[in-house]
Amino acid sequence: MVLIMGPPGAGKTSALRALESQRRGFGRFSVRDYGLDLFRMDDDLGGLVGPPLLDRQQLADDLVMRLFAHYLVRFGGLFDVIVSESYPRGASQCKDAEVVVDRLGTCIAGLVTFSISNSTAQERVRTRLTCQSCGRPQVGNTPQQCDYCQGLASRRPDDSTSRFVQRLNNYREHAEQVMEFYDKRGTHFAVDAEREAGLVVADLDHAVQELVNQSSQVL
Ligand SMILES: [Zn+2]
Repeated sequence: MVLIMGPPGAGKTSALRALESQRRGFGRFSVRDYGLDLFRMDDDLGGLVGPPLLDRQQLADDLVMRLFAHYLVRFGGLFDVIVSESYPRGASQCKDAEVVVDRLGTCIAGLVTFSISNSTAQERVRTRLTCQSCGRPQVGNTPQQCDYCQGLASRRPDDSTSRFVQRLNNYREHAEQVMEFYDKRGTHFAVDAEREAGLVVADLDHAVQELVNQSSQVL
């Protein structure tokens, strides 16, 4: 298990989806995507997290922890590597995540962060659309058809400038604590996400592999 973090607009989702399609045995946990999957499946936990997720509200720590555990119990044995996108956030969720993986007899190999300046992040968010059906990001300013699933791609309501600044500040604050935690263990890699997408994906792939190799040597 490798954790992935980065500010909104850093290109995490695109890079992880690219990696997911290139690599076999690669699983991706995202609170929002998995929560909404469970919601659509009429799962009990899905019923709890679906409405706040659709409303783009932040979930309580214990609910996110349950989602994370739910995902790992279901998929833990199926993939060689699982990456967790934007979870945990902050010190207390970090402890929760460590408890969950420990209980399931696995471990968190480390953290990869996407580093990007506030101005680049803001520019990217201003010119991106998100598919309402599959959640894939697209480039553009006016609503259009998703080139993957033909759903409607439009601007995310929380990509508006005021919400974006809020999300960015929130990210910087919580990311700091998680980075500190993995810095101490020497298992934190940063990827320069200002560059072209292909290079970012290659670096991400390398960092994930490196962390997994390191952790299997320790065990
Ligand atoms: Zn789509």
